Amino acid sequence: MPPAVPTWGRTIDRGTKALPSQAREHNRSLVLQTLAVHGTLSRADIARETGLTRVTVSDLVAELIEGALVIERGQRTGSRPGKPATLLEIDKDAQHIVGVDLSDLTTFRSCVVDLEGTVLTTHELATDGATGPEAVRLAAEVTTLAVRAATAPLLGVGVGTPGIVDSRGTVLTAPNLGWSDLPLQRLLADELLVPVHVANDANAAVMAERRFGEGSGDLLLIRVGGGVGAGILVDGVPRLGAHSAAGEIGHVVVGTDGGPPCACGKAGCLEAWLSVPSLRRVLAGTADRERVLEEAGRRLGIAMAPVVGTLDVSEIAISGPADLLDGPLIDAAVRTLRERMLAASHDALRVRLASLSEDIVLRGSAAIVLAAELGIS
Ligand SMILES: [Zn+2]
Repeated sequence: MPPAVPTWGRTIDRGTKALPSQAREHNRSLVLQTLAVHGTLSRADIARETGLTRVTVSDLVAELIEGALVIERGQRTGSRPGKPATLLEIDKDAQHIVGVDLSDLTTFRSCVVDLEGTVLTTHELATDGATGPEAVRLAAEVTTLAVRAATAPLLGVGVGTPGIVDSRGTVLTAPNLGWSDLPLQRLLADELLVPVHVANDANAAVMAERRFGEGSGDLLLIRVGGGVGAGILVDGVPRLGAHSAAGEIGHVVVGTDGGPPCACGKAGCLEAWLSVPSLRRVLAGTADRERVLEEAGRRLGIAMAPVVGTLDVSEIAISGPADLLDGPLIDAAVRTLRERMLAASHDALRVRLASLSEDIVLRGSAAIVLAAELGIS
């Protein structure tokens, strides 16, 4: 059985206990994480923030400067007495990351980002509905376009793909791409000779919202696209579940009153109510747009209430087309959650649109590399 927490799921927090053999790597990640969160800090600031000793911090910073990941950025100007402190920050251009998004079945996309997650170049390939080995070939090709465009050494490649992906980056099943038990991580790593990390697209998206958006460490991200899926962070750690299928909520039947037929053969699945193709199809045939969107939001609220009640997340972020999700749909989802949950639970819950938009999976794939390779999340 592969481990339930993937390589990119480590959490680096002050106070987390590490084995002695891992202490140095852990502390190094702690320093990087602190710089990533705060931007510019002195060695003394880092010691204060991390709880590490000044000596340990100086030692780790020396190693990070030697490796060119961290640079000195002049001295703090101010009125404090004594020697002015030298300021440090992560050199965002020390290394680049390639992010890949395979979740749009008509177009595969890739990008180069710097260590702050700023997108530097984007690339895309039309898939013409390719599946099976041809889709693998196109995935490798769009990845290679970005790898060639990077102008700094590569930290690694992250891939967000539809389907169920285990913690080693094997796509267990992705019906729309015709993939099953496909070792995508190994295939790409063998070809590109750089570290590669592969995750489900909703799991990539939740990592983007956490690292580059407004997300907290207890976050449920619902991705509404061709299907419906969720990425789950609890205590800052992504959860894949016993069979790597946590968050596969699209084919959960919502309610006991039937509903629209679903591609899976059942009726009233969340996807049948809420996926973008389902919604657009129904909206094209009705004058009562508001009622359709409200009903979709209500079904989302019904599906979410027991999940939020179980996990005690503090936020739900919904990612997808704003023209469908914003307004009646999200309002109805919030209303339904209120009706169905303990007041204390929903009062503390924030429901909102994701702060990142169409490049959320691309940037999330890069966030996965940052987490796996540097311990920054
Ligand atoms: Zn279904």
